[in-house]
Amino acid sequence: MAENIHLEIVTPEKSVVSEDAKIVMAPGTLGEFGVLSGHTPFMTSLKVGAVRYVDTSGKERFVFVSGGFAEALPDRVTILAESAERRRDIDIDRAKAAQKRAEERLARERDEEIDYTRAKAALMRAILRIRLAETRSI
Ligand code: ATP
Repeated sequence: MAENIHLEIVTPEKSVVSEDAKIVMAPGTLGEFGVLSGHTPFMTSLKVGAVRYVDTSGKERFVFVSGGFAEALPDRVTILAESAERRRDIDIDRAKAAQKRAEERLARERDEEIDYTRAKAALMRAILRIRLAETRSI
């Protein structure tokens, strides 16, 4: 039987996941990748999206990550994310409020006070949080 791989997901604020998994899938900037125990070591940056893993009981788990880095070693995957939360901890109302704020900022044309890049990134985080919380897939 295949061995488990240890998954760590940490942010500057907290440890979000620290447990063994059968497989880990993550949104690399070059595309989604999957890691099983014994994988060749590599590092990659991550897009905003969902880390999915199958826990040792066989249940599929979802964790929102707002970009960051992943390091895969033969026996572990470490994900350093700017922010991350398990699917069940996503506050949909908060994400909807963030979406509305970002959309209102982006709707104001040529306003020097507005950082459009930042507003677009906030909008993307909000939309993907809502999608993950409501549908499990992003
Ligand atoms: P907001 O404007 O609502 O703070 P944001 O996208 O700017 O949203 P982040 O900077 O990504 O927030 O995250 C800041 C902290 O708040 C992190 O700890 C993150 O896990 C948490 N967080 C942000 N939005 C949500 C949410 N909708 N549900 C649960 N936790 C959230």
